[in-house]
This record gives sequence, structure tokens and C-alpha cells, in this order.
Amino acid sequence: MINIVLFGPPGAGKGTQAEKLKSTYNLVHISTGDVFRFNIKNETELGILAKSYIDKGALVPDEVTIDMLSAEVDKTIASSQGYIFDGFPRTEAQAEALDKLLKEKNTQIDAMIALEVEDEVLVERLLERGKTSGRADDADEAVIRNRIKVYYNETAILKHFYEQQNKYVGVDGVGSIEEITQRIEKVMNSLK
Ligand code: AMP
Repeated sequence: MINIVLFGPPGAGKGTQAEKLKSTYNLVHISTGDVFRFNIKNETELGILAKSYIDKGALVPDEVTIDMLSAEVDKTIASSQGYIFDGFPRTEAQAEALDKLLKEKNTQIDAMIALEVEDEVLVERLLERGKTSGRADDADEAVIRNRIKVYYNETAILKHFYEQQNKYVGVDGVGSIEEITQRIEKVMNSLK
């Protein structure tokens, strides 16, 4: 199995790149944001709870998010050749839970691939995406800036977590989609 964490602030291009990589490497793509949005759309109990956090640009509590991620892995592991985790982990508790979960499945994270993009570029990209994404959290600049702030306050620390395991690889996230895919593929091919 190859398991990677695709990392970076909101608007770094994780979802776009994950879509490309999953078919090239035959991996299961789990985006916790997508799973939350699916639940919001279907008005499940989880969706209603998650919406109250997502609309403000805050993180959904760890326990809820970890349980959901664990269920997604259980659903897919039998037929999976590996995972792209997109938007998870976002806190140290989540990173520890992910290590534990994968260990139980006799596998592990091979690399955290981090897309590096400046803040002002992120805000511009997210406002642009908000014109078509239908996402309330992309439509309001104050919410976007809060998401970026939450990233620095709660999530960016995970760089250190994976550096300590020698698994952190930074990739320049500015350029054409194709150029960025090639940069990531170079890293992916070095893992095989
Ligand atoms: P994303 O699609 O990754 O930008 O996530 C959208 C929103 O979903 C985030 O701003 C959070 O409110 C919530 N969310 C997604 N993934 C997580 C996570 N791993 N932990 C907590 N909240 C999350």
C-alpha cells in the first residue's frame, strides 16, 4: 500500500491534485470535507452538527472527525491499494489517531506531501472558487480568512509531526495544475 497525506492550507489545491493522483496510482481518496458536505446535503445528524462548525470556518471536533474517518477506511480497505488523505489530519490528535488506525491495519503513512502557497493567493483562489462551488465557507472573505487562521493555529504544527518521522515533503503549489501534478508525481514515484 501507498498512503499519503496531501497537506496544505485551504485553497492550496489538495482536492484538485487528489483527483488526478487517485487515478494515476489507483488510490482511494478520502476528503473529510467532502464527507462532511455529503452529510450536510443529506441532512444527517452528523451533517447538522458539522455544519455549525464549517459555516464559521472552524474545525469539527476531533472525536467526531476521527470516528468518521475511521468508518471511511473500514468501508474501503478490503479493496484499497492505498489512500490519499485530503484535509485529514488537521490536529495532532487526528494525526496520532491516524497512525494508530493504520498500524492496526498493518500499514502506515508513507509521506505527507504539502502544497505550499502564499496566503493572499489562497484568499484570491477561494473567492474565485466561491463563485461556482456553492460552498458557504468560500463565499465570505471573513470566513476564508478564519479558515486560514485556524490552519496556522491548529494544523500547521503537523509539519513538525511528520518531519520528526522523516515523512514531510514540501511542494511548490503555485503554477499550472499540470505542473503541480508533475511535482507531486516525482515525490510519489520516489516512494515506490
Ligand atoms: P475542506 O473541504 O478540507 O476545506 O474542509 C471544509 C471544512 O470541513 C473545514 O473548514 C472544517 O470545518 C471541516 N473539516 C474538514 N476536515 C476536517 C478535519 N480533519 N478536522 C476538522 N474539521 C474538518
